[in-house]
Amino acid sequence: MTDKFPALNKNKVVQQLSTHTPLLWHNPQCLSTIEGLQHVGLTLEDVQDAAERLQRFAPLIAEAFPESRARGGIIESDLVEIPAMQQALAQQGPLHGKLWLKKDSHLPISGSIKARGGIYEVLVLAEKLALESGEFSEQDDYRRLLTPHFRQLFGRYKIAVGSTGNLGLSIGIMGATLGFQVIVHMSADAREWKKQRLRDHHVTVVEHQNDYSVAVEQGRQTAADDPYCFFIDDEHSPTLFLGYAVAGLRLPAQLAALGITVDQEHPLYVYLPCGVGGGPGGVAFGLKLAFGDAVRCYFAEPTHSPCMLLGLSTGYHDAISVQDIGLDNHTLADGLAVGRASGFVGRAMQSLIDGCYTLSDQRLSDLQLLLHHTENMSLEPSALAGMQGPLWMGNDPNPSPHAALDHATHLVWATGGSMVPKEEMQRYLAMGNLP
Ligand SMILES: *Cc1c(COP(=O)(O)O)cnc(C)c1O
Repeated sequence: MTDKFPALNKNKVVQQLSTHTPLLWHNPQCLSTIEGLQHVGLTLEDVQDAAERLQRFAPLIAEAFPESRARGGIIESDLVEIPAMQQALAQQGPLHGKLWLKKDSHLPISGSIKARGGIYEVLVLAEKLALESGEFSEQDDYRRLLTPHFRQLFGRYKIAVGSTGNLGLSIGIMGATLGFQVIVHMSADAREWKKQRLRDHHVTVVEHQNDYSVAVEQGRQTAADDPYCFFIDDEHSPTLFLGYAVAGLRLPAQLAALGITVDQEHPLYVYLPCGVGGGPGGVAFGLKLAFGDAVRCYFAEPTHSPCMLLGLSTGYHDAISVQDIGLDNHTLADGLAVGRASGFVGRAMQSLIDGCYTLSDQRLSDLQLLLHHTENMSLEPSALAGMQGPLWMGNDPNPSPHAALDHATHLVWATGGSMVPKEEMQRYLAMGNLP
C-alpha cells in the first residue's frame, strides 16, 4: 500500500483510506477546549484584531461591492433552516436534533468561504502598505484606498497565490479592485469559468497540469525572486487562518438572534468541508473560542483526497500525501482536491478538531441533487461534504461520551456555489441520483 511509510501498512485507518472506504474518525488527541487552545499559537485577541480590521474596511468593501451593502460592507452569510432536506436525510438514517445551513456559498465578492480568508489577507497587505507610505492612518476613511493615488501605490506590487479555484477568485478580485497586479497559479482542478472570471478582472492566470501543491509551489517560486511580489501561502498563512476564524466569533449573535441555544445540553455540531485545512481550521478555531466544549467540529473530505484525516491520524501532517497511500487526489469537489494538508493547521488544530470523515464523489452528487430537489438550493460539490455529517453522528456505533444528539444543532457549512454558471450547475445536477 505504501512503500514510503512501511509502518502504516498495518494501520487500520490508512487501510480504509487507501481503499476509498468512507469512514468516520474520532480524533483521540482532541482535548478540552481550554487545553486545546494552548497549542494553537494564536489567541482570541488575534481574532478580535482581525474582526476590527474587517470593521475598518467595511466602508471600502461596501463602496466597491454593492452586494455587500445589505450588511454595511461586512462579509457575512445567512444561517437558514433546511427542514425539507432534514426530512429527506432522516429517511436515510437516524438524524437527531435540527439541521441548519451556513450559506458561505452566498458570500459577497467570490461566492465561497474564501471570501473570508483570501480577502482578509489582501486587506492586511493593503493596510500595511498604506500605513507605511505615511499618507494614511487607521482613523482615515478607508474608502480613500480606492482612489487613484493609492491604486497607483498598490499597483507597484504583485500578489501571487496558488489555488484550486476559489482562493484565486477571492484574492484576484479583491487584489485587482485595489490595483494590485495579481498572479494566480491554478491547479488542474480549477474550473474554466473561474479562470475566465479572473481574466475579466485583468488578473494573470497561470494554468498548471498538476495538482494544488504544485500550483502553490510555483506561486511561491514566482514571489521568491521578486521583492515587490507578496506570496499568499494557503499552506502556512496565519493571516488567512485568522480571517476565517472571525466567522466563529460572529456565530453566537447569529444563533441567539434565531433563538438557538448552545450549551453542554444543547451541543452545536459543525461540519466543515476540508481542503488544505485553512478554511475549516480557522472557522473551527473561532468556534472553539466562542462556544468552548459546547461545539464539536468535524472536517469532511472526499474519499480520493482525505489529506487532513491522513495527516492527523498518522501524526505525519504535511510529511505525508494521499498519493503516498496510493490515492489519486481526483475528485469532483474541486475545492477539496488537495493531496497534502497544511502542516501549520494540522499541528495548530490537532487538539481541537473533534474528528474527520470521508464520503465518495457519487455521494456528494446525490446530496447536491437532493438539496436542489428539496430546498431549491444550488451549491458546488465541495459544499455538500458537510451534509453527510449528521448521518455519521446518528449512525455512530461509538458515539463520544458527550453526545447529546436529541437537543443538538447540526450546522452544515456550505462553502461555495452561488457563482457557478447555470450550464455548469446543470451538468453537476445530472450526475446525482435521487433516493
Ligand atoms: C477552499 C474550499 C474549501 C476548503 O478550504 P481549505 O482552506 O482548502 O481547507 C471548502 N469548500 C470550498 C468550496 C472551497 O473552495
